[in-house]
Amino acid sequence: MRFDVLTIFSEMFSAYLREGILGRAVKREIVDIRLVNIRDFAKGAHKTTDDRPYGGGDGMVMKPGPIYRSLESVERVKGRSLVILLSPQGETFDQAMAWELSEWDQLILVCGRYEGVDERIRLTCVDREISIGDYVLSGGELGAMVIMDAVSRLIPGVLGGETSNLEDSFEGGLLEYPQFTRPRVFRENEVPPVLLSGDHERIRMWRRTESLKRTLEKRPDLLEKAWLTPEDEEILAKLKKERHLAGF
Ligand code: SAM
Repeated sequence: MRFDVLTIFSEMFSAYLREGILGRAVKREIVDIRLVNIRDFAKGAHKTTDDRPYGGGDGMVMKPGPIYRSLESVERVKGRSLVILLSPQGETFDQAMAWELSEWDQLILVCGRYEGVDERIRLTCVDREISIGDYVLSGGELGAMVIMDAVSRLIPGVLGGETSNLEDSFEGGLLEYPQFTRPRVFRENEVPPVLLSGDHERIRMWRRTESLKRTLEKRPDLLEKAWLTPEDEEILAKLKKERHLAGF
């Protein structure tokens, strides 16, 4: 997978892309990340990338020319290439979208700043407008990092164990079960004994039940779209009954 990030603040990426799972994926060349400095494509002595908005008002708007020329400079890899504009007005990013994006060969991420990007970029150069949530950030850089991180985890070879992401929250539509590590007792709280039992079937059942329980308690909305087996339905019915009896 290749990511090309168009930004006026490329320095912001260096630490994040060096460390952790993403850093390792870059080093192992499973993921190729290129940073394109939009300012390099600005004209004039001051290399200005923003200008005042037509119609007046506060703030500045990113000029279309430097972004357009930056996009033109990006080599399109063979296969499927998608231009994404980071914007609070876009479709909300989630795990299902991360899977969808992981099918592409190249994602070109355009990071806005100031009051945003001249509308004609969205109209003429962008395939998809994506938001990372209903709040306004100062720039698209964090959004680009969020997308690169979430998508990269889904690319074969990026995580150590090939299946270690399959039980992550949102995979299959549920939240993940609680995790414990040593010590066995921490602040008078013991690790659930079943996890020490070595009985794989009991552990599987406990984890599945906890996963359903957490989702029911914290994100019941997810259950409407989750892929539930008959066993899950049975566990869920029991959990709902218990909650009802407990007065929830
Ligand atoms: N004036 C714009 C509006 O109200 O829609 C917001 C501009 S914001 C201050 C500047 C840039 O940050 C945007 O162009 C976008 O690239 C990025 N940004 C802000 N919030 C975002 C979000 N929730 N998701 C993705 N990108 C975001």
